[in-house]
Amino acid sequence: AELPRTHFIRQIVEADLASGKHDRIITRFPPEPNGYLHIGHAKSIVLNFGLAKLLGGRCNLRFDDTNPHKENLEFVEAIQTDVRWLGFDWGDRCYFASDYFEPLYGFAVELIEKGLAYVCDLAAEEMREYRGTLTEPGRDSPWRARSVAENLDLFARMRAGEFPDGSHTLRAKIDMASPNINLRDPVLYRIKHGVVHHQTGSTWCLYPTYDYTHPISDALEGVTHSLCTLEFEDHRPLYEWVIANVSVPSRPRQIEFSRLNLEYTVMSKRRLTDLVGESHVDGWDDPRMPTLAGLRRRGYTPAAIRVFCERIGITKSDNRVEMAMLENAIREDLDANAARRLAVLNPLKVVLTNYPEGRTETIELANHPKDPELGTRTLPFARELYIDRADFEETPPKGFKRLIPGGEVRLRGAYVIRCDEVVKNDAGEIVELRCWADLDTLGKNPEGRKVKGVIHWVAAEQAVVAEVRLYDRLFNVPMPGAGGSDYRADLNPESLQVLTGVRLEPNLRGVLPGERFQFEREGYFVVDPDSNAERPVFNLTVGLRDTWGK
Ligand code: ATP
Ligand code: MG
Ligand code: MG
Repeated sequence: AELPRTHFIRQIVEADLASGKHDRIITRFPPEPNGYLHIGHAKSIVLNFGLAKLLGGRCNLRFDDTNPHKENLEFVEAIQTDVRWLGFDWGDRCYFASDYFEPLYGFAVELIEKGLAYVCDLAAEEMREYRGTLTEPGRDSPWRARSVAENLDLFARMRAGEFPDGSHTLRAKIDMASPNINLRDPVLYRIKHGVVHHQTGSTWCLYPTYDYTHPISDALEGVTHSLCTLEFEDHRPLYEWVIANVSVPSRPRQIEFSRLNLEYTVMSKRRLTDLVGESHVDGWDDPRMPTLAGLRRRGYTPAAIRVFCERIGITKSDNRVEMAMLENAIREDLDANAARRLAVLNPLKVVLTNYPEGRTETIELANHPKDPELGTRTLPFARELYIDRADFEETPPKGFKRLIPGGEVRLRGAYVIRCDEVVKNDAGEIVELRCWADLDTLGKNPEGRKVKGVIHWVAAEQAVVAEVRLYDRLFNVPMPGAGGSDYRADLNPESLQVLTGVRLEPNLRGVLPGERFQFEREGYFVVDPDSNAERPVFNLTVGLRDTWGK
């Protein structure tokens, strides 16, 4: 599709290659396995893997797994599935931060020996008080002056499990008066008993913090450019402090870019976890979720997501991206590639009174209006058909070009019909239209009159009955929870509408989950994994036109 665009990070990387600073770049994508990947992660994946691929470098997949109580193997596997699905490959370069627990411990001992780290006995609450504020410097911990020997002994006993949770931490000795709060003796290690880590089991009761683990993991893997989101800008001095003070084999450079924010959805893992946990949606792969698993089930293609990520670009300015941009990317892909089919979402029976009973004929239709390579298909045509309820109006509004009493309309690829009689039930609802078909209009215009409207249809007896799930925005407002309100209050109660009696052309019998089609005049749809041989289930991927803000 489109060429990858240049941006400030690509320029830095290319300059480092041109100057010979690096022969080959290594980037990494470092998810925490505490949830499923979402479209924001895709931005980071496309950046990291895409840049490495473009410039002949490597990209590592690294699980940032230092916070074991929220992590698990299901998430590890789902993340691997989603990165592969997006079209990227880490080869044999899948790592876990927990692979480095032993060397990380060793580097902590090195810091202690250099007088750059100490064991602190302040409780979390006290530590907060000592830390100070943006306007007020912090105060030294009373434990800051401990001797190297005492620190080494205590740290070894922390590892050995002699102390309860919260009783001691290991802290870097930097500067309690620094204007950057991240440098006010940040915690490097905490004690956590009783957790079973998905990789290391119960080997450790001592866990390193993100700020300590991340730079060392990058350096051990030879990462040249460590790309992260803007909220880590203030952590960069600490990242550099760690790299400068332990004997790691390389010096990675951290560069920040702005995260993706998308309107009408939420992307923090805490909120996504709650949406699933509180059953506001039907799991991480609910088609309304901004997760990659949800988008996949919604019918998004990996190519469309990659194009979207290229289009939003890489900058340092925070902004919100309109949902229409994401939808345009998939709509363009499906417009070019999805086969066309006829599907009647809200069926209304039509009987062609002059069409012989028991007769069926075969209508041939192109699978795609612009791409003859997609070929043609045939549909049965018979006396009893279904059209969509929305294509008939008894008292039509001005400009209505579809079927009306006494009026004519063309059935897509077949005949012109005229509605002669509207049949209603006792409740006054329309249950059937009795129509006359001009049998001289197959592939040609009717004699002496113009028929403008064209509507879709399926033969009643041969139709496949299906379920169709129509999705709308998950939230009613562009920024759910803005201004401190509960984002749940902004959930759209009508984000899912299920149609159970949909009639499909028979060519849709036996479709497989993941197959995508355009239902003519309705939108793009994908087969859901809930389908079975008797009853396919389709999800609406996106409508035919952009309706945001309209
Ligand atoms: P959360 O804050 O919701 O827990 P996270 O950023 O902590 O998300 P991680 O699993 O740590 O989630 O993210 C892995 C990588 O993906 C990080 O490098 C992070 O910067 C990047 N990432 C996460 N969300 C976004 C986003 N919205 N836009 C761009 N990159 C993102
Ligand atoms: Mg997180
Ligand atoms: Mg994170």
